[in-house]
Amino acid sequence: RSKDQGGGVFHAYAPDLHVVAEERRVLEIALREALDKDQLHLTYQPVVNTIDGALTGFEALLRWTHPEYGAISPAKFVPMAEEARLIAPIGEWVLRNACHEAARWDGSVRVAVNVSAEQLHSPNFVTMVTQTLAQSGLAPERLELEVTESVFMREGTGAVQVLDKLLNLGVRLSLDDFGTGYSSLGYLSRTRFSSIKVDRSFVQSASRNVPEAVAIIRAVVALADSLGMTTTAEGVETEDEYQMVQHLGCSRIQGYYFGRPLPVEEARALIAGHMTNKSAVA
Ligand code: C2E
Ligand code: MG
Ligand code: MG
Ligand code: MG
Repeated sequence: RSKDQGGGVFHAYAPDLHVVAEERRVLEIALREALDKDQLHLTYQPVVNTIDGALTGFEALLRWTHPEYGAISPAKFVPMAEEARLIAPIGEWVLRNACHEAARWDGSVRVAVNVSAEQLHSPNFVTMVTQTLAQSGLAPERLELEVTESVFMREGTGAVQVLDKLLNLGVRLSLDDFGTGYSSLGYLSRTRFSSIKVDRSFVQSASRNVPEAVAIIRAVVALADSLGMTTTAEGVETEDEYQMVQHLGCSRIQGYYFGRPLPVEEARALIAGHMTNKSAVA
């Protein structure tokens, strides 16, 4: 199906394997060009603590704007980049940009960067992180790498060892989308995560008083606490959700309620304003 027919290549078709394969091929070729042609950029979503709403950092979130097809969601193109073996160069680009940007920020503000399983298992990953930290001048403890439970799913790939090497560099690790994959508590005892990120689906259900969701968040908070980790609630959109996760003991929140992913200039402005407010209070 051609674009001339007005279908576009990113619409949800009825399952038609031929069209799906064609769409993927087109998207893959476009993705290869995206890096060279400056079509990628990062947005920065604020993370705040639930005690006083203070800004603790930002999560860097990748955006792809194709000149013809428009904005394409990372939920769609990151998995594709993984399969097309493009995630290592793209991930390297993300890390470089995020570290160089964060190095300009006030020293108390951290940056979180998502690392996909495929990228974590790529051969030079730890070396690349080491070099990027050195080149950007960012203190390692200001970098937080987010991985999901999927990094532990591949057999014999030594995710735990790679994560240990990263911890030895001094970076922080967080476990993203917790509760949505095949969670095994074993990973939590073997890797020193700083923070567990509670997936948005639990946050939403808990604020609607679904008892199981409330119980799960409570249990995750208690578990994290006893392991010396903190809990970040993801996708907090409303005052009710904020009240609920604060009440359940999550230490940090991230979500539209506090701030959407921001263009880099707005993130810098937020930091500047935040620092001014802090000194005004002090
Ligand atoms: P994630 O790491 O769990 O990131 C959080 C996602 O939730 C982001 O979606 C963010 O925009 C969205 N979000 C934040 N607050 C709210 C809220 O209050 N309500 C709702 N409905 N959504 C909220 P985004 O930016 O579309 O990214 C989707 C996923 O793509 C990310 O999930 C992450 O897994 C992946 N991703 C994004 N950037 C990168 C990257 O640089 N590298 C890798 N490997 N993956 C990335
Ligand atoms: Mg994340
Ligand atoms: Mg997440
Ligand atoms: Mg997610």
